[in-house]
Amino acid sequence: MPFQLITLENYQENVTCPHCQHAVIDWNEEQYIQPCEHTLFIAMDLGFEYIADEFESTMQRSVDEIHAHDDQGLNIYSELTHSEYPNYLIYKASLGIEGYFRYIGFTQ
Ligand SMILES: [Zn+2]
Repeated sequence: MPFQLITLENYQENVTCPHCQHAVIDWNEEQYIQPCEHTLFIAMDLGFEYIADEFESTMQRSVDEIHAHDDQGLNIYSELTHSEYPNYLIYKASLGIEGYFRYIGFTQ
């Protein structure tokens, strides 16, 4: 697998980029999604919040295609991990709801 999965234990903490330390998830901001140049995607099991063009182009399906078929059930994690992007990190954090997660992708 070309990605490394890192599980975040405390989902209420800000999530910072491992490269530039920018708070990509910043709970102090009304707009708490704050991607930096190293952010490839921010997605929940319920749908995408942010996607970088360079990452979307390596996925099997585009975000529009995925959402167009979401009545058949989403498997965001599967979509993210079947990318052909060479090396990336996935931070996985609980949403505080059983079985639902947020995934944040960074360049390696
Ligand atoms: Zn960064």
